[in-house]
Parts: sequence; C-alpha cells; structure tokens
Amino acid sequence: MLLKNKTAIVTGGTRGIGFAIVKKFLDNGANVAFCGSCKETVDKAMDKLLQTYSKDKIMGIYPNLMNRNSVSKAFGDVKEKFGRIDILVNNAGISARDKIYDYKVEDFTKVIDLNLNSVFVCSQVAAKIMKDQGSGVILNTSSMVARYGQPSGVAYPASKFAVNGLTLSLARELGPDNIRVCAVAPGVTNTDMVSNLPKELLEPIVKQIPLGRIGEPEDIANSFLFLASDMASYITGIVLPVDGAARS
Ligand code: NAD
Repeated sequence: MLLKNKTAIVTGGTRGIGFAIVKKFLDNGANVAFCGSCKETVDKAMDKLLQTYSKDKIMGIYPNLMNRNSVSKAFGDVKEKFGRIDILVNNAGISARDKIYDYKVEDFTKVIDLNLNSVFVCSQVAAKIMKDQGSGVILNTSSMVARYGQPSGVAYPASKFAVNGLTLSLARELGPDNIRVCAVAPGVTNTDMVSNLPKELLEPIVKQIPLGRIGEPEDIANSFLFLASDMASYITGIVLPVDGAARS
C-alpha cells in the first residue's frame, strides 16, 4: 500500500497506460480522480473500475485540459471530495505520423495542445494546491522518441522533448515548495496508440529491443507507482526510461 491516504489525478486515465496507472494507484490505497476526453469514455472506464474498486475511492472527470478555468473547476471538485491532491499524472496524449510535406498547422497544433500545453495548465493548477498543502508530486508521460526523434509525425517528438524540458525546469522551480517533478519515458507499449501500427513497422522495432518484447501498460504503471510514492522521496528532475533498452 505505497499510496495509502494519498489522492491522485491521472489525465488520460480511461484506457491504455493511464488506465493501468489508475488501477495500480487504487491497488496501492490511493483515492484516484481520472480524466477522460468526454463523459462517454469516463463512464465506460468507471463501469470497469467499479467491478473491483469502491465508489468512494474513485472519481471520473472530463475537463478541457487546455483550459485553465475548466481544469481549476475540476481539480477543485477533486479536492472537495478527497480533501487534498498529492499526485498529478499528466498522461493524456495523442500521436500522429504525418509527413512534414503534408503536415497541416492545425494538426501540428492539436498534438502540441494536448501533449504539451495541457501539461503546463494542469501542472500550474495542481502546483498551487500542492504548494498550499506543503507537498506534492507531478509526473509526466514522456516517450523514448524524446531521445532520438522519429522519422515522421514531428509534432509528437517535439511535444515530448518539450515535456522533458518542462519536467526538468519545474523540478528546479518547485523543489523549494517540496513538490517533486519527474517524467517516465515509455518505449513502445501495448495500447490503442500502437495497436493500429502496421506489422511491417512494429516487427523491426521489436527486433531491436534487448528484452525482446514491447512494454505492457502495467510495466509503465509500476514505474509511476514508484515515482509517486515516498520510496522516491529524494528523486526529482529525472526522465526515467522504461523501454527494455530500446534504441529506435
Ligand atoms: P491511448 O490512446 O490508449 O490513451 C490516450 C489517453 O489520452 C486516453 O485516456 C484518452 O482519453 C486521452 N485523451 C486523448 N485525447 C484527449 C483529449 N483531447 N483530452 C483529454 N484526454 C484525451 O494511449 P497510451 O498509449 O495509453 O498513451 C498514454 C501516454 O503515453 C501518452 O502521453 C503517450 O504519448 C505516451 N506514450 C505511449 C507510448 C505507446 O507506445 N503506447 C509510448 C510512449 C509514450
């Protein structure tokens, strides 16, 4: 029970890596508010969670993550229900593989808005609450592509490089307020985001992973659990690769 008496908010918590983090945190005693993009996906995830977990420990919310008023209202509701916010996981993200020659500015902006701007907005709102409480942890989902880039869809690696910059800088800015800030950089992970990748793209990727397989959402959730817990009380300002030593 590494997160007993803690309250966490997980964005992008309705499926994939985020859903695994939500379950892992609940398994470890936390109260968890999870965010989705709309009521339908939140209700669907809630139905699944209620098969195992108590309603008192879970809350589903769907703020516009790029809008400060919307996020402030939703995080305020979480604080009202659970009393505090100890952990924020900025996990919501989208990917796109457009080639540079065809990339529309609005499509580029859409990726940056969710993958980067929402991290700024949610961190800002949560940090104010955590500062008043005297402690907190902010964790971001980066990606292994933020080490090497990728051969198409430039907005995605650009957003994740920026998330790393935001993570390292906020760790320095918020350390004096006793708020830790870290990121996890997953390798290719078995979620909806990769299930529609063509086989000819995936096979060579798996071949160069020393551990011989892609990651499972639970592999990634375990690292979030560690970083969110007091076991990591002296760790801040890191981007932790969880990728089977993949080098794309
Ligand atoms: P996924 O597509 O399964 O889940 C994405 C989540 O983001 C969902 O919960 C969805 O509700 C939420 N989301 C999407 N659009 C949203 C919007 N407009 N507003 C609010 N929420 C929205 O993806 P995943 O693979 O679980 O990815 C989770 C995170 O992990 C992302 O940040 C992604 O970049 C990162 N990541 C994934 C992989 C991978 O291989 N799957 C690798 C590295 C990093």
